Order: sequence, then C-alpha cells, then structure tokens
Amino acid sequence: MIYCVEDEQNICELEVYTLQSVGFEAKGCSSGNELFAELEKELPKLILLDIMLPDEDGLTILRRLRSDERYAHIPVIMATAKGTEFDKVKGLDWGADDYIAKPFGMLEMVARIKAVLRRCEGRGVQQAVQIIKRDNLEVNLEEHKVSVAGQEVVLTLKEFELLKKFLLNPGIVFSRDKLLNDIWGYEFTGETRTVDVHIRTLRQKLGSAGDLVETIRGVGYRMAATK
Ligand code: CA
Repeated sequence: MIYCVEDEQNICELEVYTLQSVGFEAKGCSSGNELFAELEKELPKLILLDIMLPDEDGLTILRRLRSDERYAHIPVIMATAKGTEFDKVKGLDWGADDYIAKPFGMLEMVARIKAVLRRCEGRGVQQAVQIIKRDNLEVNLEEHKVSVAGQEVVLTLKEFELLKKFLLNPGIVFSRDKLLNDIWGYEFTGETRTVDVHIRTLRQKLGSAGDLVETIRGVGYRMAATK
C-alpha cells in the first residue's frame, strides 16, 4: 500500500491510478488529517507527500510522522511545486527519503518510488515489526513462534526462514534457485526439489493458512500480496 497525499484531485487520482497500473496498492489522501486517519487503519510501504497542502503542510506532516514511533520508519518522498534548492534541502533535513519536483512525469514517480522502496527494504522491521499477521497466521520474528488460528505450529529452521522471507516480501515471487541461495546459503545446483519438499511440509503445517504460500507455475513461490 502506498498513500499519495495531494490536495489537487486530478493529480492525486493520476498518481493513484498510475501506481495501481504498475501493481501497487495505492490510496489518495487530500490532507494530513486524512492521511493520519488512514495510518490508523493500515501502515503503507511508502508515503508520497505533497508539501503545499491546505491545512497542515507536508513538512509539518513529515515531522509528525518522524516523531511518532509507529510511523517513523515509513519511507517518505516529498513532492514540491517550488523545486528550489531551499525546499529540497529542507525536505531532506526533515527526514524525507527523497524529493521530487513538480510537475513530474508518472514514469519518474514510479522509478523514484521503486528506488526508495529498494533502499529502505527491511527498514523498520527490526525496530517495529516483530509480529506479522496475515489472515489467521501470526508470526513472531523475534521468538521464532508461529501460530495459525491461535494454535502454535512448530516449524524447522528452514521452514521458518522460508516463511519469514515470504512474509517480509509479500507479492514478490522467488525462484527455487533464489530461495536455495538465500535460505540454504550455497549454490545447490540441480536440487531445487529440496525447496519444493520444504514448501510442501510448510504448507501442510500451516493448515488453513497454507494457501498464503502460492505457487507461480514455472517461476517459483510467493506470499499472497497484501490487500
Ligand atoms: Ca498541493
């Protein structure tokens, strides 16, 4: 989920539409108040934040985000119509992850967002997210505890590592080779069946939550994308 904070409705709609068309979940907010209301419901992967807004300006919103431990880790890209060095520096100094000068093209916006997401991947995971919930699945990353519908599920280390990788990267497809490399930690040519076997037992153990681990035929596996 990406929140686009922009009071000009046509620009906001274009941003949301563009992000959705390249596969992101996106939602528009016309003010800081709307943004903070949405944050109560769902934490986004990134916030695209306009500086010139009617009530609270973007820099004030950014300061509020950075001073709240629930939101401090969320990557923020500031959008500014002014585009002056002053705004740029100010935006960065206040803790924005990037800035983009208006008017900007939608391709540039998508490229910036993807770059910031890559750079910030995993940020906040250690600080903020120790427990991940998906449907009836709950995983405590610190304590290596997994439960489905309140019932504890005992996983082997490799099964846990697989599940953790999927949960931290929802919607991303991992090839068997990639998983072998990342989880088993060495080149394991020709024996990608090892991955299939572990995925099968992982799914069985997860029971009703097993469907969250999806097979992408001919490619690999992924965790179902978050809504
Ligand atoms: Ca504006």
